[in-house]
Amino acid sequence: MRVGVFFHEELRGRDWPIIGNKFAGFPEAMKEAVKLPNVRLYKPKPVSEELLLKVHSPSLLERVKDAWYYHGARLSVGGCVEAAERIMRGEIDAALVFNVAAGHHAGPDSAWGGTYLSCTGPAIVNLREKFGPGRFAILDTDRHHGDGCRAIFMGDRDVLHVCFCDRSLVEDGGTKVDVDVGWSTTDGAYLELVMREFVPRVEEFKPKLIFHFLGHDTCQGDYGDLGLTMQFFPRLVQLVKTCAERVCQGRYLIITGGGYRRDVAEYIFPRIIEILAG
Ligand SMILES: [Zn+2]
Ligand SMILES: [Zn+2]
Repeated sequence: MRVGVFFHEELRGRDWPIIGNKFAGFPEAMKEAVKLPNVRLYKPKPVSEELLLKVHSPSLLERVKDAWYYHGARLSVGGCVEAAERIMRGEIDAALVFNVAAGHHAGPDSAWGGTYLSCTGPAIVNLREKFGPGRFAILDTDRHHGDGCRAIFMGDRDVLHVCFCDRSLVEDGGTKVDVDVGWSTTDGAYLELVMREFVPRVEEFKPKLIFHFLGHDTCQGDYGDLGLTMQFFPRLVQLVKTCAERVCQGRYLIITGGGYRRDVAEYIFPRIIEILAG
C-alpha cells in the first residue's frame, strides 16, 4: 500500500485546545516509518474558505476565524481534503492526517470540544465536486459522540456514519449509527464490537473510501479512559485496513482525533503508518 502522511510543523509547539501539544515530538517520532519506500510525507496547505463555506455557516466561520487556533485547524482540514483527493486519484491508497483544532464536534453552525472546523465535510464535498456522486463511510472511534459530523451528514444517505460512543441509536435509514461502548471495556471487546457493528454495515454499504476519526482519548490514563491499552490502536487500524481492502480497494484515510497523551501519540502513529504501508 502507498501511504501519505500529512503533517505540518505548525501543528506542534502549541497547546492546542483539549489535546495540548501532543505532537511536540513529531515528525521525528515517525522518522523511521516515513522512510519506508512506499510512504511519503506531505506538507498540507490551508483549506480554502470557499470550501469551508460549503459546509459551515458564514457566522460560524466568522467566529472561528478570530480564534488563535484557526490556522492550525485550516492546515488540518487542508490535509484531510488533499489526502482524500490523492487517494481517489489513485496516487496513494491510504493516509494518516495529523489534526489539531478540527474534527467531529464541528457542525454546520456550531463547534466545540476542541474541534472547530469539520474535516470530513469539506473532504467529501470536494471529492463529489471533482469525481461526481459517491458513497463514503466515516468510522468514529473517539471516546465522544461525533455530533457535528452527524449534523453535517444527517439526511445524506450516501454517507454511512458509525460512531462508537455512549449511546445506542440507528437513524437516517440505517446510515447513521451510534454504538454504546459502555464506561469501560477491553482491547478485545472493543475490537469485537467494531467487527460486529461496523464491518458488516460498511461491507453492505460499499463506500468509495473509509474515513476514520481516530481518537486515543479512550486510552488508559487519558481524559476519555475506557481501559484500552496503547497496543489497541494499531490493532484497530489493522482490522479496518483489512476491511477497506475487501470493501473499497484499501482506500482508507485516518484523521487523528482526541487524546492528550504525548507518549501514546508517539507510540501509536509510527506503528499505524507501518501497518498501512504493510
Ligand atoms: Zn473525544
Ligand atoms: Zn455517537
